[in-house]
Amino acid sequence: MAKVAFLGLGVMGYPMARHLKAKGHDVTVYNRTGAKAEKWVSENGGRAAATPREAAEGQEIVFACVGNDEDLRQVTLGPDGAFQGMGAGTIFVDHSTASAEVARELDAAAKEKGFGFIDAPVSGGQAGAENGVLTVMCGGDAQTYARAEPVIMSFARACRLLGPAGSGQLTKMINQICIAGVVQGLAEGIHFGKKAGLDIEAVLDVISKGAAGSWQMENRGKTMNQGKFDFGFAVDWMRKDLSIVLGEARKNGASLPVTALVDQFYAEVQKMGGNRWDTSSLIARLEK
Ligand code: NAP
Repeated sequence: MAKVAFLGLGVMGYPMARHLKAKGHDVTVYNRTGAKAEKWVSENGGRAAATPREAAEGQEIVFACVGNDEDLRQVTLGPDGAFQGMGAGTIFVDHSTASAEVARELDAAAKEKGFGFIDAPVSGGQAGAENGVLTVMCGGDAQTYARAEPVIMSFARACRLLGPAGSGQLTKMINQICIAGVVQGLAEGIHFGKKAGLDIEAVLDVISKGAAGSWQMENRGKTMNQGKFDFGFAVDWMRKDLSIVLGEARKNGASLPVTALVDQFYAEVQKMGGNRWDTSSLIARLEK
């Protein structure tokens, strides 16, 4: 069992840290809004720290799951950041969805201080985190990864090293590119079916068993048909992710016309007040 810290007890981090504790690891938590850390400790035991630096001191592995690049820099590199408290030979695992650039920057800073860094964004959403069945896409060196993987598996069903630092974030970008096109296609299919006067639930039931089937159709088809979006992965987060994707594509020359278009469609959903709606709300702009 490992001595670990978890920084960022949001929708994802709160249950991920809970799984670490349930598997028997010694867990210290840090959350910017302290009340959430106190609540976590009252429910799960363990210890709450006042700063990321204090949380990181004396740990073998420090996990983080915060918002964007800047949030990540704040909890790692600042004077009270975790990197000031990490000992030699320890590991920092970042589960935030961020740029490949910040992953490489933190990897270099970690190497300089003598500890390991793994960028490890996740897929599977809130339900995946609650149920401990996330998919984790990792970048880093093989030795560091081999030590971190068994502990990461406390809240995952799949975890894989895909290359050097930044490769986890690049893989998560591919994940988001694939989701964007699929959700728009599903939204258009349901919209078309409604205009054609078909029973959408019956349509989805049959076509989900054929070549059109997808996780999105299986899990979001019915709720899209019902116009229910008050759950899941928020449009604001998706726009953050797509902006990272489109920034990377400008650098590597990839052509992403559908992704760029869907990003604009999400901007329209935000204008409709859908910032916190689930990403399946793309259908709402077709029906307004
Ligand atoms: P969330 O519920 O908004 O939680 C964000 C967490 O980060 C909170 O604990 C917040 O602290 C902390 N935080 C943010 N900025 C900070 C800063 N500057 N300094 C210190 N702490 C800071 O977000 P989430 O849904 O858990 O998502 C976290 C990450 O996972 C994001 O990168 C997101 O893209 C990714 N992700 C989310 C999902 C999903 O379905 N939600 C799925 C896959 C990946 P406070 O409590 O003080 O605000």
